[in-house]
Amino acid sequence: MVAPSDEFVMLIVSSPSGAGKTTLCNRLREEFGDIRFSVSHTTRLARPNEVDGREYHFVSDAEFERMVRERAFAEWAAVHDRRYGTSKREIDAARAGARGVLFDIDYQGARQIKAHYPDAVGVFVLPPSLEELERRLRGRGTESEEATVRRLAAAKREIAHYGLFDYVVVNDELERAYERLRSVVVAERCRRARHAQRCEELLTQTLETTRPGRALGEE
Ligand code: ADP
Ligand code: 5GP
Repeated sequence: MVAPSDEFVMLIVSSPSGAGKTTLCNRLREEFGDIRFSVSHTTRLARPNEVDGREYHFVSDAEFERMVRERAFAEWAAVHDRRYGTSKREIDAARAGARGVLFDIDYQGARQIKAHYPDAVGVFVLPPSLEELERRLRGRGTESEEATVRRLAAAKREIAHYGLFDYVVVNDELERAYERLRSVVVAERCRRARHAQRCEELLTQTLETTRPGRALGEE
C-alpha cells in the first residue's frame, strides 16, 4: 500500500446508473483542474459522444483479460454484464502530476480502492427517488430497453451498499448537489492529517525565531 502524500485526495464517486454522477464529476473536473480524472478501461462499447482515452479506454475482452492476468488493475469488477477497471498506471500518473484523483467507479471498485487506500474518500450520489432515476436514465437515451431494465434492476442492489461510503450527496437540483459535492472536496483538503507536515514545519520555524533573547535582538 502506498501512503497518500499529505494533500493528495483520492475521491471516489459512485451512484446507481442515471443518478447524475457523470454530470457532477464533469463539473468537478472543470473546477478542480489539479484533480486528475481516472480514465477506466471497459469492455463496453463507446456511446456516440464518447472518445477513446477521454471517458474510457475502450478495450476488447481479450485485452481486458490480459490486463487482469498481468495485474495491471488496482481494481476491477463486472458491472451491468461488462467489465470495468482502474489501471494502476492511472493512479501512478495522478500521483506524479496532480493533487488528487477522481474515480467514477461502482461500489465493488470503491470497496477495493478503500481496501488498498484507506484514506480514499467515498461519495455516494443518490437520486431523489427511483421514479426520477428511471426518468433520467431514459431521458439520457443512451441505453437499449434491455440495458435500461438491467440498470434499473441493479439500482437497489447498488443503493444497498451505501454503507461503504463516507458521504451521501442527493442529486435533486443540480446546482445544489454540485455545491454539496464540491464542499466535500474543499473540506477533505482541509483535513488536519493532510496538513501535518505543514504544521510541523511552522512549529520548527516558530521555535527558531522565539528562542529567548533572539526576539529581543540579542544574539
Ligand atoms: P450517471 O453518470 O450517474 O449514470 P448522468 O450524469 O449521465 O448519470 O445523468 C443521467 C441523466 O440525468 C443525464 O441526462 C443528465 O443530464 C441528467 N441529470 C443529471 N443530474 C440531474 C439533475 N439534478 N436534474 C435533472 N437531470 C439531471
Ligand atoms: P457506464 O457504462 O454508465 O459508463 O458505467 C457503468 C458503471 O460502471 C458506473 O457505475 C460506473 O461508475 C462504473 N465504472 C466505471 N468505471 C469503472 C471502473 O474502473 N471500475 C469499477 N469497479 N466500476 C467502474
